[in-house]
Amino acid sequence: MIATDWIVSHDATQGDLAYAMECTRCGVVQQIALPISVDCYVAMGKEFTKYHKHCRPQIKEALG
Ligand SMILES: [Zn+2]
Repeated sequence: MIATDWIVSHDATQGDLAYAMECTRCGVVQQIALPISVDCYVAMGKEFTKYHKHCRPQIKEALG
């Protein structure tokens, strides 16, 4: 399994982003309408991960 630790799920203290999934490499946020079944949440997580597991780290600093 490929490590995808740049793909995160926000905790409940993040206001509008509570439980939202985010790819911290490209900045895409998938908001989740709650309540949702765990099965569904897991399925969405897998789908989200599939789309973002090949995202590369942003190297804005190098572009000056
Ligand atoms: Zn991404």
